[in-house]
Amino acid sequence: MSTDLVVALDIGGTKIAGALVDAGGRIQVRAQRPTPAREDGETVMKAVTAVLDELAGSPLWASAGAVGIGSAGPVDASAGTVSPVNVPGWRDFPIVERVQRATGGRPVTLVGDGVAMTAAEHWQGAARGHDNALCLVVSTGVGGGLVLDGRLHPGPTGNAGHIGHISVDLDGDPCACGGRGCVERIASGPHIARRALEAGWRPGPDGDASAAAVAAAARAGDPVAAASFERAAQALAAGIAATASLVEIDIAVVGGGVAGAGEVLFAPLRRSLRSYATLSFVRGLTVVPALTGTDAGLLGAAAAAAPRTDASTAPIRG
Ligand SMILES: [Zn+2]
Repeated sequence: MSTDLVVALDIGGTKIAGALVDAGGRIQVRAQRPTPAREDGETVMKAVTAVLDELAGSPLWASAGAVGIGSAGPVDASAGTVSPVNVPGWRDFPIVERVQRATGGRPVTLVGDGVAMTAAEHWQGAARGHDNALCLVVSTGVGGGLVLDGRLHPGPTGNAGHIGHISVDLDGDPCACGGRGCVERIASGPHIARRALEAGWRPGPDGDASAAAVAAAARAGDPVAAASFERAAQALAAGIAATASLVEIDIAVVGGGVAGAGEVLFAPLRRSLRSYATLSFVRGLTVVPALTGTDAGLLGAAAAAAPRTDASTAPIRG
């Protein structure tokens, strides 16, 4: 069996996307189903199987060698299981074994979605050519992943680099994870919107109270909206600076919906980073937007499953 192509699966709370990805990172075939997130576990698995069946209908299927899965977390790559917060029917669901069975025994690699995005950015995006990088996904939650010494560093369970749940505010608000003052509690899209609303910002006539609407208001000069992004940027900068001090990264790549705010986020982020990343070995750290966009999950799943010499990744085989 040729290993020219990789079967990639991107499993999230709203959609299950699949693709056949070639060695150049091009998506040759796509399939997608909505995630029946409120249904029982077997119904969710049927949606995965439907995506795989559609891909298997392609004449290219026979030349696909390995399978990569990037999933909403938490994942446990060492056990081959996933327990996505937004898919309650899946708790310790044996996704690796089930997908392996559904794909004729192909080798299956599982990583969390933050690690998948990191693999994508290292392979095709803004972290390309960087041996030590932190990639962040800032959206409904805040996730991330690490590239260390030129290799993806998923950690034993596939969750390493999960910057959203490191604390940057010792006495801060309780976080959904059980901790306190986490980066996610301050910098996620919903918390950017909540903080702006609490400080008196009001949505426009369309009623849109999302972080994107707060970003638009900030861009138009609303100081309350801008202050909420400023605070989010501070939390991200503190987390990035801490990571840089621990493992010496030289670039931080920020993607996810909130990164769509552009300079509303990145200007205060770069400014804050200068005040937290102060030691000589972290001072050169740069922060840039992600480049791989909506296909990051699929490309990252493919990259995690098919480590290559130009952007090698450490696989976790199921
Ligand atoms: Zn937390």
